[in-house]
Amino acid sequence: DPLAAAPLLETVDQIHGRQFKGGPIINGVMGEANEPVLNPATGEVIGHTANADKHQIDAAYRAATEAQVAWDRLGGEARARILDRIADLYEQHMNDLTALICLEAGRTLNDGISEVREAVDFCRYYGNGARQHFGEPVDLPGPTGESNQLYLTGRGVFVAISPWNFPLAIFTGQVVAALAAGNAVLAKPAEQTPLTAARAVELMHEAGVPKEVLHLITGTGAAVGEALIQDPRLCGVAFTGSTETARLINKQLADKEGPIAPLIAETGGQNVMIVDSTALPEQVVDDVIQSAFLSAGQRCSALRILCVQDVIADNLLKMLKGACEELSLGDPSKLATDIGPVIDEKALATLEKHRERMAAEAKPLFAFDESKMPENGTFFGPQVVEIEDFSLLKREVFGPFLHVIRFKAEELEDTIRRINATGYGLTFGLHSRIEGRAHAVFKRVNVGNVYVNRNMIGAVVGVNPFGGQGLSGTGPKAGGPLYLYRFAEEKTKTIN
Ligand code: NAD
Repeated sequence: DPLAAAPLLETVDQIHGRQFKGGPIINGVMGEANEPVLNPATGEVIGHTANADKHQIDAAYRAATEAQVAWDRLGGEARARILDRIADLYEQHMNDLTALICLEAGRTLNDGISEVREAVDFCRYYGNGARQHFGEPVDLPGPTGESNQLYLTGRGVFVAISPWNFPLAIFTGQVVAALAAGNAVLAKPAEQTPLTAARAVELMHEAGVPKEVLHLITGTGAAVGEALIQDPRLCGVAFTGSTETARLINKQLADKEGPIAPLIAETGGQNVMIVDSTALPEQVVDDVIQSAFLSAGQRCSALRILCVQDVIADNLLKMLKGACEELSLGDPSKLATDIGPVIDEKALATLEKHRERMAAEAKPLFAFDESKMPENGTFFGPQVVEIEDFSLLKREVFGPFLHVIRFKAEELEDTIRRINATGYGLTFGLHSRIEGRAHAVFKRVNVGNVYVNRNMIGAVVGVNPFGGQGLSGTGPKAGGPLYLYRFAEEKTKTIN
């Protein structure tokens, strides 16, 4: 493909104006695709997708159930070599994958590049996990005179359901983890980003994943979700998306026939940062800008609530406002753009409703200059407001919207209690130079990922164990040492 060889900006130019196909891929064959897929930055049609129908889902389950046995028996080493080849192919296609992510999900080129790298790292990391854990059995202690051995195998057919905000990295991470552990996979990407997913599946097949082992099931949650989840052949679900959808899937799993299938869920957050009077203001502003506004705030790890100690608040907020004024919003395929569009009209409407509510209940600190808004596309300018209390924010606000709360030195303990009371527990940031405070706060806050004096909360690039608690997910952490085990069946052999 000449696109793979061209420099990034040339590739972006060439990709503009192309039409892509992202229909279901069953046994390596792509089905009809007539539903338009839009570029959120322009509203233009960039390709087509389709809801997989019942027959396609049944055919995928049939082929996957049969092919999984041989895939599992192939062993961890052989599967790891295939995963390494996926990583190599992704690296060769770094530019065209980046351009496609940018076009389909509205992510900036910088975001796109780091996303492809993250996907590459997932392939290599889970490949190594397959090598280490899915080969030789492990000797276990047992009663005298008996030998006990533990084997890890695949569970069967996994469904991997992914969101649109990391259309390549999260999609790939879930799929290759399930594959690494010896499962067959029916992969369901978000309905907004089927084109990137289709390209990923083509590259996975090219790398050597058998076409019967991995199928792409495109479509909306309503159209294909139920058929996928209620099938008695289903053995497990890897899900990343909203907390509400995870609950729905859990309910459906409870009623399905066949094996009891585990749900690995990575869900939303209501992420907080605490800044005390000893923090370095420049570093805080850098962190807040990246964490709250880059990727248009559409990261599960993004910062939503900034808690600033009152004595430094006025100065810090003035600096923050200055930095916000520098942010550029617009075409994500231009290198100078900081913030691209939000994903679609629905996301935009939700954010606009939140802005209206905050206009009535909060004090405005910064609002993006509406005269600089692009004409087309679903853009939402960054906003900063000051609120009195956490109780205004019951649900995740998924976009470039930051809420500031002031606290007094003696209220630190209470602030942590309020963070825990949100029920979410994904990311948390702390800026403090007080010795011992980082660890003391870390121990008390019920959050999966704590970042201290860093320039961004959340994964920056590459594999970084990541996952939440409570309303933010079931664990284990993606990219962490325990993740692959959840995709595996344990068998022990005891010989007298
Ligand atoms: P979403 O829950 O609307 O959709 C996620 C996926 O679930 C999509 O593929 C969707 O089609 C599918 N789905 C929807 N209803 C379904 C049903 N009834 N049955 C089966 N599948 C169904 O979420 P989204 O808007 O795509 O993504 C944004 C959300 O994802 C945010 O809440 C964000 O915080 C979260 N997220 C979490 C992480 C993490 O690692 N914790 C990472 C990225 C995104």
